[in-house]
Amino acid sequence: MKIIMLGAPGAGKGTQAKLIAEKYSLPHISTGDIFRANIKNQTELGMEAKKYMDEGKLVPDELTVKILLDRVANEDCKNGYVLDGFPRTIPQAEVLTKALGEMNDAIDFAIDVDVPDENIVNRMSGRRACVTCGATYHIVHVPPKKENICDKCGSELILRDDDKPETVLNRLKVYHEQTQPLIDYYTAKGVLRTVDGTKDMNDVFAEIVAILG
Ligand code: ADP
Ligand code: AMP
Repeated sequence: MKIIMLGAPGAGKGTQAKLIAEKYSLPHISTGDIFRANIKNQTELGMEAKKYMDEGKLVPDELTVKILLDRVANEDCKNGYVLDGFPRTIPQAEVLTKALGEMNDAIDFAIDVDVPDENIVNRMSGRRACVTCGATYHIVHVPPKKENICDKCGSELILRDDDKPETVLNRLKVYHEQTQPLIDYYTAKGVLRTVDGTKDMNDVFAEIVAILG
């Protein structure tokens, strides 16, 4: 099963993608996580991506597409995957459709996690991420057991630089301009399903499981 998570930054794509990946034994592929790992390791790609990410802009398609296509060519993706944060532009979606089409394949579901803009700044300013394992929390909605410490690996939790309110507003603008058109793109392909992302995370997941079967 090949699944794409759509939705505004902070809508809960990563949270739900991790739950889906676990239940259906699929790899969870987050282009944001791949970029952040590269930044942490100070690779050339990481340094280039950081320039855009810090401003709340998208990393150029040329860089992003290559990384994603390399990743889905891995052996662990042969039975499918959950893409979280890719595609984010129509050209990215077209490249993916073409690459899959060449193998007589296609995306099965594009799940739009729908959350109004009003809720997003609160979601993002409360998000805390583990620098080591990538787990995410929310100080109010999904708190770690011990303040600022990751439940899974014991590392410190941080507020991502691009989750500060001024950057979030820019990311939302970029989302509406460049990513939201993907809703029509995948509707036209008959694979779009919308879930109410304002609900509790377990209720959102139940909606998704009802769709995926
Ligand atoms: P995205 O991957 O779409 O950017 P995340 O999954 O990281 O978003 O979620 C953003 C923030 O909102 C995180 O702090 C997460 O813990 C929290 N969150 C996710 N889903 C819900 C939900 N259904 N209700 C409340 N908070 C949520
Ligand atoms: P995320 O972790 O999905 O919120 O992504 C964090 C940041 O990484 C985004 O704001 C972009 O700057 C960059 N990024 C992640 N995925 C993509 C993508 N598919 N295309 C372009 N930029 C991306």
